[in-house]
Amino acid sequence: MKKITKILIANRGEIALRIMRTCRVLGIRSVAVYSEVDRSSAHVVYADEAYCVGPAPSIDSYLNLGQILEAVQKSGADAVHPGYGFLSERAELAEACRERGIIFIGPSAQAIRDMGDKVLARNLMQAHDVPVVPGTVGEITDVEEALAIAEQIGYPVLAKAAAGGGGKGMRKVNSAQEMEQALGRAQGEAGSAFGDARIFIEKYLESPRHIEFQILSDVYGKCIHLFERECSIQRRHQKVIEEAPCAHMSAGLRTRMGAAAIRAAQACRYVGAGTIEFLLDQDHNFYFMEMNTRLQVEHPVTEYITGLDLVAEQIRIAEGISLPYEQGNTEIHGHAIECRIYAEDPASGFLPNPGRVTYHQVPTGVGVRVDSGLDVSGDVPIYYDPMISKVITWGRTRDEATERMIGALSDYQIAGVKTTRQFCRRVMQSRAWRDAHLSTHFVEEHPDLLTEQARAPIEAAAAAAVLLQETPGSNQFSTTAKWNRRNR
Ligand code: ADP
Repeated sequence: MKKITKILIANRGEIALRIMRTCRVLGIRSVAVYSEVDRSSAHVVYADEAYCVGPAPSIDSYLNLGQILEAVQKSGADAVHPGYGFLSERAELAEACRERGIIFIGPSAQAIRDMGDKVLARNLMQAHDVPVVPGTVGEITDVEEALAIAEQIGYPVLAKAAAGGGGKGMRKVNSAQEMEQALGRAQGEAGSAFGDARIFIEKYLESPRHIEFQILSDVYGKCIHLFERECSIQRRHQKVIEEAPCAHMSAGLRTRMGAAAIRAAQACRYVGAGTIEFLLDQDHNFYFMEMNTRLQVEHPVTEYITGLDLVAEQIRIAEGISLPYEQGNTEIHGHAIECRIYAEDPASGFLPNPGRVTYHQVPTGVGVRVDSGLDVSGDVPIYYDPMISKVITWGRTRDEATERMIGALSDYQIAGVKTTRQFCRRVMQSRAWRDAHLSTHFVEEHPDLLTEQARAPIEAAAAAAVLLQETPGSNQFSTTAKWNRRNR
């Protein structure tokens, strides 16, 4: 066992800050790294020390392993936390840390490799009795093979990149006629996005839900799960709203999926916090999709329903402390929801809209948490993911968490860039959300939620009445008062 005293956080934005806050609670010093455009970012200001790791493009800074390792050495940090994205799922960072006697807060390089390759992971899962989506055993090498497999499992199928991530490198194939072209495109996309053109094929599930299980494993092989998160509300195959627990989840299904998640983690001798992603079909069959060998963006909903600080758990596991929890003693308390606030325009297909945020004031209140990388103003640089913040609410029931989310999103003041704030608020107010009628096609199935004009007539009338009260040129309201009126 080795006590960690100083952690370098190889990341930026909200997740870097969130990790540093736990460091402060635990009495651990934090080291920030930053690119030239992030020089005065909130995570740099908050850290105990900070090192520049290069120019703005991530390939030259946050993905620059050499520069990151140099900052580790200069700072004398005894551990590295990779956050999510960037180098978090690159085995080289884990390996380089271990070679230098630095603690990597995450699993072994081997586990990252096994799970980062979707073809390898599928095979490993099958060998450990974890159901996978029907499809190929290995990579696809020619069209004939792909056609034969598709014939066997039935169309539509999905051509997926073995090295895929972030919703990229995926193509739906509806018929044999489309196969050759789809394979070519998927390979091309995978080659340029991941430098690895290998493709495999699996059954395309028509209207699935994305349900994932959070697991924790210590170095002694003890593994527990911390229940599920529903992440079905997605755009471009990427999550935008998540909740825990799932609204529709029987105790039996939870037990079976949780046990499969633990088998999956144990299959790669996993150490740390990780997530097993499943697809659930309409007949409640579940299939392993992938394992994320890091902290997820949506981890706070699990923190709310369990009361645990997952970063603190990761640090303790990395120090070699054994897990003090038993599966039988873990319980779900209430319900939590996360809405991601992106600088994106939902009305234009969620087109990224980076730029200068001229005013930013986050909401607060009972059961409201906001993880943000921005202060009262600041830039959303074009170089990185355009997520500005995450609003997370907790309630004793799903309805209470929803009400608190509607209140928080109404109070959230952000100016200068288009965001997903109002879209999330409309989702929270929709009948489909209230009924928890969810699938990964939620966004396509509810185009009315994308724009303001399509609001329910009663709500639109109320909003119009409020606007009428605000006479143009009147200076009787402060900016905040106007904001509040417009948003209720
Ligand atoms: P990535 O690693 O790029 O995030 P995933 O394999 O995790 O890719 O899939 C991302 C999303 O794509 C899923 O949440 C789901 O919406 C969709 N998806 C993936 N596989 C399938 C499938 N076999 N059938 C239907 N949808 C799928």
